[in-house]
Amino acid sequence: MQKVSQIGSLVTVPQKGAKAKLLINGEFIDSQSNEYFKVLNPATQEVESLVPQATPAELKEAAKSAEFAFKEWRKASVIARQGVMLRFQHLIHENLETIAKNIVNEQGKVLSDARGDVIRGLQVVENLAGLPDYMLGSRISVAKDMDTYTVREPLGVVGGICPFNFPAMIPLWMFPVALATGNTVVLKPSEKDPGAALMLAELAIEAGIPKGALNIVHGGKPTVEFILQDPAIKAVSFVGGDAAGKAIHAGASANGKRVQCNNGAKNHGVIMPDADKEHAINALVGAAFGAAGQRCMALSTAVFVGESQEWIGEVVEQASKLKVGSGLDKSSDLGPLITKGALERAERLIQSAADEGATVLLDGRKPTVEGFPNGNFLAPTVIDNVKPHMQCYQEEIFAPVLVILRADTLDEAIELVNKNRYGNGTAIFTQSGAAARKFETQIEAGNVGINVPIPVPLPMFSFTGNKASFLGDTNFYGRSGINFYTQIKTITSLWRQEGVSMNKPSVHMPT
Ligand code: NAD
Repeated sequence: MQKVSQIGSLVTVPQKGAKAKLLINGEFIDSQSNEYFKVLNPATQEVESLVPQATPAELKEAAKSAEFAFKEWRKASVIARQGVMLRFQHLIHENLETIAKNIVNEQGKVLSDARGDVIRGLQVVENLAGLPDYMLGSRISVAKDMDTYTVREPLGVVGGICPFNFPAMIPLWMFPVALATGNTVVLKPSEKDPGAALMLAELAIEAGIPKGALNIVHGGKPTVEFILQDPAIKAVSFVGGDAAGKAIHAGASANGKRVQCNNGAKNHGVIMPDADKEHAINALVGAAFGAAGQRCMALSTAVFVGESQEWIGEVVEQASKLKVGSGLDKSSDLGPLITKGALERAERLIQSAADEGATVLLDGRKPTVEGFPNGNFLAPTVIDNVKPHMQCYQEEIFAPVLVILRADTLDEAIELVNKNRYGNGTAIFTQSGAAARKFETQIEAGNVGINVPIPVPLPMFSFTGNKASFLGDTNFYGRSGINFYTQIKTITSLWRQEGVSMNKPSVHMPT
């Protein structure tokens, strides 16, 4: 096993302002590119690292090394691959703090939340302890001396394209499952915060991933185009926004690749008048503003039903108590937005709500954050009396902005949620089993919480967004993830115990 890191001293931890490495054919190398993206610390605007737009030659080399590594890695036994994953999960545990701190510097979220980012991904790796069971085939005797059996085989080289908002969890949704099932990988982290993916790759190598099996390529659209075009890459996993997701789904499909795309969201929390008031308000406020609203499962839209509308004032009160600040400040509840562009877009959408007749009950624009005058900060913002045609409802804001709609009945709330084009997640707060059951059965969203604000399934299940939030037919992680990265081969064999197998040609369809 190649020893490349010690706890807390990963070689890929970017030094401030340094160039991020590519991982090609088992080596962390400098790109020959002339084009770089600046990773700016969202709280300070300091340059954390410089991310190359990998050159065409580097991209090709990454795919070729993955193709070459696949020849041997596919032959590794399930137990051997499981062993690597067991060592990998151990190394992630040991390096959790280093990875989490890098996430705070590059992405901006608060440290406790950054730890959660790593842990939710780590759980996907831990779940691979069940790999042999997931990989089991089936067998049955179909005729005298004849058996049919299935085996689950890897696809080959697979590509991964990641968003900025979970720099550890989402790469971990992808490459460990792909590798454990015998594939090799070309992964593109977000150009906005690639540090965590690099560190995780380094740990995977230390855990025993062979040379070339995992490659990290950086860049923007040209890197994505390469992944979509290169014939060596057989499948593409994407998590990110709608525009990129639609283009990637179409591009990969046109080139005959298997593809799964988890896209954008607008998640509704429905608050019934019989809910446990304190629980519902706290859950809603935490899920709307945690991670500065930059979670695909953020509960960014509340629907207050009937008398629960009287609680809106208390939501505003709780939201106003949250502290916006640096992710490294223990007293901060939420950090900055990822970029100045994201901040300006959110501010514009808040203004559009006011202009379109909604009521901005809590305006978090331009907060003062002592010591961080240049941060991309937006404090919790609550907008009431929102109507479905308004821009702030039509678009995913992806910021600490809660939009509130009102409904008279549960039926009306369900109809509202179902009319929304997205179907990532939703939650109901109620103490009525009948209301919960109605919601659960009639609601058109793929991840449903009942008194649970952010129902992201643990990895023994799969992440099952639907409608515009998902393109493809096989979900991430859990059994679906194994299915996505494998194909089934069905073998029918005849081993005669006695006599000749066939004494004259048979021209009819065997029955
Ligand atoms: P994004 O779509 O801007 O970027 C995602 C990836 O696609 C990046 O690697 C980026 O380089 C690439 N990319 C961006 N534009 C592209 C284009 N036009 N063509 C090809 N590639 C392109 O997303 P983001 O801002 O990094 O992440 C936030 C979005 O991701 C939100 O919409 C959020 O809801 C979504 N998201 C969804 C889930 C989910 O599971 N449904 C999880 C996390 C994030």
